Amino acid sequence: MTVHLVGAGPGDAGLMTARALELIARADVILYDRLIPDGALDGAREDALLIDVGKVGGGAQVPQEATNRLLLEHGRDGREVVRLKGGDPFVFGRGGEEAQLLRRAGVAFTVVPGVTAGVAAPAYAGIPVTQRGMAAAVAFVTGHEDPAKEETQVDWPALAAFPGTLVFYMGVRGLDRIAQQLVAGGRLPQEPVTVVERGTFGDQRTVGGTLDDIAGLAGEAGVRAPAITVVGPVAALHEQLAWFGAGPLAGRSVVVTRARAQASSLAARLRELGARVVEAPAIRVEPLEAQLPDLAGFDLLCVTSPNGARRLLEVARDARALAGPAIAAIGPGTADALRAGGIHADVVPPRAVAESLVEALAGREVRRALIARAETARDVLPVALRERGAEVEILPLYRTVPEPLADAAREAARAADYVTFTSASSARFYVEAAGAPAEGQRIVSIGPITSDALRQRGLEPHLQAAEHTPDGLVAALLADVAPGQLF
Ligand code: SAH
Repeated sequence: MTVHLVGAGPGDAGLMTARALELIARADVILYDRLIPDGALDGAREDALLIDVGKVGGGAQVPQEATNRLLLEHGRDGREVVRLKGGDPFVFGRGGEEAQLLRRAGVAFTVVPGVTAGVAAPAYAGIPVTQRGMAAAVAFVTGHEDPAKEETQVDWPALAAFPGTLVFYMGVRGLDRIAQQLVAGGRLPQEPVTVVERGTFGDQRTVGGTLDDIAGLAGEAGVRAPAITVVGPVAALHEQLAWFGAGPLAGRSVVVTRARAQASSLAARLRELGARVVEAPAIRVEPLEAQLPDLAGFDLLCVTSPNGARRLLEVARDARALAGPAIAAIGPGTADALRAGGIHADVVPPRAVAESLVEALAGREVRRALIARAETARDVLPVALRERGAEVEILPLYRTVPEPLADAAREAARAADYVTFTSASSARFYVEAAGAPAEGQRIVSIGPITSDALRQRGLEPHLQAAEHTPDGLVAALLADVAPGQLF
């Protein structure tokens, strides 16, 4: 069908265009770069083929020829292909070359512009790239990561003479050379310069200086790619107009071990707070075929996890099929998942553990109960209900199965500051897939059951959430980073 050359914006997922999200949701195949927003592919179809063709910094990259081959192969296959690139596809993104290739091969394509880093990173640092009376023009310039590669691409004297703001993509390592060349070409050594690292991401950093001292200052701060360098009087406006605060978790990396389908809201919240999130989904939820029994004979339906709630709603197909019994959710997260399907739980204990649910059900007469849950689960709830004389049936709706971790995810996970566990099965499978957290990594548990599962593996959690929900887990993390502070 068509290949779409799509810009994903500079990093903040909120800067992705409506068109980009629509095409990602529809695509059969997505060829993506490394520099795309975290979670950019969350909306992709479950059965879509996702191919990583990115590179890290100046490092190993899928060669452009291989990317081209993949583009043509899938494009000719009559499939809907999204070629997803960071920022804008036609700004230092080789999108133009890929368009030429597709045109030559007779493959139809469309282009979806994206918010380019050269405008967005300055904007998030409080720098307008043009400003009346200060800069009437702006130039986007590439300064290669590898100064040896630079050769004659850039006409330095002409750039130095350019009457406006200079915005350099790449070039962090060549910063001193860029500064020297501009001064040699006539720019003042005192000309303001601001470097914006990981612009628009939750852990964005800026370093301000002048052509004279910026290389040293950026070096001291340890600035690394991706970064944008803004040269010109407007660069100083950062001092006055900075607005994008570093979140309380800036500079911290946090591993999320939940199944991919569930991870996104926890990951998004952590990113909003400035954390760098490593998604290491060591488990996957596998739905089971299930037949909903006639609920007329039951006076209680217990749902013991958000996954259970979602699968129950699928199996029921229509909320009316769940009419009849009182409905108990194990905790607020499960109640929310039911509510998304139009079901209001009658009983919701504040703490999401079976013991609390048993307590919350204490005053209720139960003759026949159905428990909708995972294939394997603790027996606290059925045992307690049976002890009270109820007849209990179990409806297994899903199972969690281990998911192998890619080498890169395993490595990133082992280098992170915090490793979070949101269920006993995530603890078990993560340790199987990635090994025990390393010395110095802080282990965060969502609650007592998960903590027990960790202890069984010889791991003592450093933190346990007071409220056994993803929000509770985030609160525990925040308290650990800045004790005593309220967020
Ligand atoms: N097509 C992209 C640019 C790709 S070139 C765009 O339009 O933005 C890669 C370079 O873009 C990086 O080396 C860096 O200079 C810049 N870049 C991309 N994302 C960035 C970000 N979030 N913050 C700062 N610079 C970024």
